Amino acid sequence: MSSCLFCKIAAGDIPSGKVYEDDDVYAFRDIHPKAPTHVLVIPKTHIATLSEANDAALLGTLMERVRFIADQVLELADGYRVVINVREGGGQEVFHLHVHILGGKKLPF
Ligand code: C5P
Repeated sequence: MSSCLFCKIAAGDIPSGKVYEDDDVYAFRDIHPKAPTHVLVIPKTHIATLSEANDAALLGTLMERVRFIADQVLELADGYRVVINVREGGGQEVFHLHVHILGGKKLPF
């Protein structure tokens, strides 16, 4: 979707703090970090929100890459939090499915 901000970031049309990329996902640092490490992982396929994601293989790949990026790329050895905000009521502001990885400190509940 050409008008989508995160599609443009994944395509390299808008600069971002990339931390990882492969054929399926793109990961970059959140511009307003809520923790010392705050990275967003997005599928390269445009899906607006988790509610519209019915491709089990894509979701499985996304979560496997989230684990890989958090553990192997970001090396969050003490642990981390994974968050998906879903639609307006869940606090979603950008309508391209994304997984937040938060870590680097002991997170409050
Ligand atoms: O889950 P939600 O949609 O609320 O999160 C969107 C996230 O995208 C925010 O944390 C915001 O800081 C981040 N963002 C970004 N780069 C942009 C626009 C938004 O990292 N250019």
